[in-house]
Amino acid sequence: MKVAEFGQKMLTTRSLILKDKLQLKTQLKEVSNFIVRAGRLSFWHSHFAKQNFKLNPRKFGWNYWRSIPLINKEDFLSIGLDKRLSDVKEIIRRKVLGFILQSTSGTSRATGPVLFLKKIDSLVDGQLHQKGNRILILYQGRAISLRDVIAVTSRGQSLVVNPFMFSHKMIKAVKEFNSDTTVTFPSSLLYLTSSFAQVKRMFSSINYALLSGDFLSQKQRALVKKNFPQIEMDLDYIMTEVDSIGICCRFLKSVYGANAYHPYQQRIVELIDIDKDGYGEVVVTKMRPIELAFIRYKTGDVARAIKQRCKCGSQWTLFLAGRKNMDYIKSLGVLITRAEIERVFKEFYKQIEEWRGQVREVELNGVLVGELTLLVKLHNRLTDKNLLKKLKEKISTKLLLTPRKTLIMLAREKKFMPLKIRLVKQFPPTAKKVLLQKIVD
Ligand SMILES: [Zn+2]
Repeated sequence: MKVAEFGQKMLTTRSLILKDKLQLKTQLKEVSNFIVRAGRLSFWHSHFAKQNFKLNPRKFGWNYWRSIPLINKEDFLSIGLDKRLSDVKEIIRRKVLGFILQSTSGTSRATGPVLFLKKIDSLVDGQLHQKGNRILILYQGRAISLRDVIAVTSRGQSLVVNPFMFSHKMIKAVKEFNSDTTVTFPSSLLYLTSSFAQVKRMFSSINYALLSGDFLSQKQRALVKKNFPQIEMDLDYIMTEVDSIGICCRFLKSVYGANAYHPYQQRIVELIDIDKDGYGEVVVTKMRPIELAFIRYKTGDVARAIKQRCKCGSQWTLFLAGRKNMDYIKSLGVLITRAEIERVFKEFYKQIEEWRGQVREVELNGVLVGELTLLVKLHNRLTDKNLLKKLKEKISTKLLLTPRKTLIMLAREKKFMPLKIRLVKQFPPTAKKVLLQKIVD
């Protein structure tokens, strides 16, 4: 009986707002005011009109909140950046250097990169566990537009550098900046160390790293520790679009290692469409600055949550499972995408029935590099002995892992391992078909 009851309870709990009762109660007024003011901005006005949603604040409550339409990256593209720019005109005029345009990596099948206007201070605001004095922000090339190479935040305490545009000329500037903290992706940090021998010395003043945007493999963690024994690391759940979503406290870190986060208090984090195993889609709301707010934004991440009081006082913990549909995998400065693999596979569709990709990191001469293994199931038995060789050659020379470089180019530069292909007779049947998988061992 108990099992059935439990099952029924699970079915009714299809969505969750990851806040405790007290927070829900005390924030209701603030959220209600927020939604009314945000609804007057041209961006949200346009979004709600498209969704045939009329704001009626008089009946505001958390159930009403759940009726507010969701928004995703495609909606942001279709509504357009100009609406956002017109909403933000006033605050930009007051502080023109306080904003940058950042773009997402553009790897979902439905959209290319999407530009987001960002308040530069919010890149580090509220994220740091031990607030640093001088912060070096290393963000990926595609993540920073306009001021692509170096930008200093308005308070003059943060230096924003694109690690993939880094050159020897910049070493001196970064060294003189004398940062004590860095905010970056695990892969960016390791890319810099493997490309520039002087980076280790340049980073000698840094004793804290806040990592995000990637799964951190054991190997990456070990290599960062080996190169920078003085650096203490934390891994947070941060997205280009909405900044911090989840924070890893030291108690969580000691119990779960990586990939467990408390919802960031200044956001409203929700899980929707929760399946019977407890996995749902992450929805996040960012309220400040109101002109750049995000209301019920579907991040595309899949996660599960538990309610359990942590020693730090937080009640909810979120575990990330991956991207919905797993369209891409980031690895050490390259991006392996399903769309790109399918593009190259097109000319082999007569031979290939199904495929899966596995990405892992392997050590090559003391540096971590990525490795892609393609598992291939053929329509027919292998008759052409050269087929595998031809496949390997074609895919290596055509598959782009960065906007300009193919797998074979990166393999020649010793920045990626040569492609591996394995034939399989049958893939195990699974409900959720994951084409691309990151192997974290
Ligand atoms: Zn905690």
